[in-house]
This record gives sequence, C-alpha cells and structure tokens, in this order.
Amino acid sequence: MNQSVNHGALEKAQEEFFSVASHKLRSPLTTIGGYASVLLQENLGTLNEKQKEYLQEIINANKRMLTIVNELLNASRIDVDDFSINPDLIDLKKIINEIINNLTLQIKTNKIHLNTIIDSDLPLLKVDEQLMKIVIQNVLINAVTYTSKTDSIKVVVKKDATDVLIQISDTGIGIPAAQQSQIFTKFYRADNAVAKQSESAGLGLYIVKAVLVASGGKIWFDSEENKGSNFSMTLPLTGMKKREGSNRLT
Ligand code: ADP
Repeated sequence: MNQSVNHGALEKAQEEFFSVASHKLRSPLTTIGGYASVLLQENLGTLNEKQKEYLQEIINANKRMLTIVNELLNASRIDVDDFSINPDLIDLKKIINEIINNLTLQIKTNKIHLNTIIDSDLPLLKVDEQLMKIVIQNVLINAVTYTSKTDSIKVVVKKDATDVLIQISDTGIGIPAAQQSQIFTKFYRADNAVAKQSESAGLGLYIVKAVLVASGGKIWFDSEENKGSNFSMTLPLTGMKKREGSNRLT
C-alpha cells in the first residue's frame, strides 16, 4: 500500500469519527440545556440565588460545548465536501442586525464601541441565509472575543460593480505576524488568542473560508498585534453559487 492511500483512509476514518461523535453528542447536550433552562425558569419551584447562578453556569457551558460540537460537525462536512448551498433572496442588513442584537450583552458588558455602516442602496442578495449567518457570526464573534474593554469594532457593508464587500475590523489584540499565515488552518489558534480565551476550537475561520470559497466569494485580512484586525469578505452581487449536497451546515 502506498502512503497516500494510507493517508486517505486515515483521513476518512477521522472524518467519520468526528461526524458520529458530533451527532451522538449533540442530542444529550441539547437535553441537558433544555432541562437546565426549565429549572432556571422556576416552573418547578423557586430557586435561591446560588442555585440560579450555578444553573446559569451549566447553561453557558452547555452552549459553549454545543458550539464546538456543531463546529466539529460542520468541519467534517466540509472535509468530505458534501454540504449544500441553497441561495434565496435575502436582506443582508436584516441578518447583520439580528447577529448584532444577539451579541448586545457581550458588547455592552465590555463597553465596546460598535459602528455599523451599511450601503443604503444594497440590493437583496441571493444567498443561503444559514450559511451567511455562520460566516458573519463567526467573524463578528471573533472581533468581540479578541477585543478588550472600550475597544472599537466597525462593520462596513458596501458594493462595487461586481461584488458586495463586508469588512469587520477591530482595535483588539491582533494576530502576531509570524502566525498570520496559519489562521485559516483547521484547529489553529494564535498564542495571544489562546491566552485571552482558552475554550475555542479554532475551527471558525476554517469553516467561514470554506463556505465563502464554495459560494464564489473570498476572505482575507490584515492585522497587527496589539493594534487590531481587519477581516474583509466578498460575495458576487449575483449571489452564492447553488450547490447540491446531502448535508446542511448548522
Ligand atoms: P477561534 O475559535 O479560536 O476563534 P477561528 O478559526 O475563528 O477560531 O480563528 C482562528 C484564530 O484566528 C483565532 O484563534 C485567533 O488566533 C485568530 N483571530 C481570528 N479573528 C481574530 C481577531 N478579530 N483578532 C485577533 N485574532 C483573531
């Protein structure tokens, strides 16, 4: 047997492992989160402050774990190259505002200055709404995660003759120059990011890039350590390319 066959078989086994592990983990995690939420709503009896605090910790940890499991599942679907893209006409501004709303608590708690500038004549775009959310959410959550108190984040959406350009920039920790070339690699995290936030899996940008490239788009960035990062993404104004596949990314 030659080496490439071995390598291929190993990769396939690894992808299957991720896929099965993620499916089997997702359902009990969802159950745990569901029951913890019911308890916290005090439908089954009142709780003291300490009990509420601990339940909230369980819910938060459960959410973090579900995010990682979903990312593993998405990455394995990307690796076997079997995810669908179903474009539909959508309002990008609405999606961005929804994502920002979901991050309001973190933005307020960290006193982050958020500035959003969206071209007023942006047309409806033919994109897969779920995939668009995955893309923007990942890059925006990174901007929030890798900034410190009173830093700024700017979201700009504009169009030129052929493309829509989405830029998300921040004045956060930045990416060390020597590690920038690996940022889109699966599981890769720069040292300063690990020090700031130890729990992420390093899969977000791997997924974002795969989705954009499969859709006919692009992503790139420039960044300076301790100064900030600027992520730019484009999609053709004609929309995402439709793609058949037996799986949806979640
Ligand atoms: P993670 O789960 O670690 O955020 P990602 O794949 O989304 O994984 O990002 C990979 C790495 O790229 C991060 O761990 C971090 O080192 C770097 N990175 C991404 N976005 C930013 C940002 N806005 N500021 C600083 N570093 C970033």
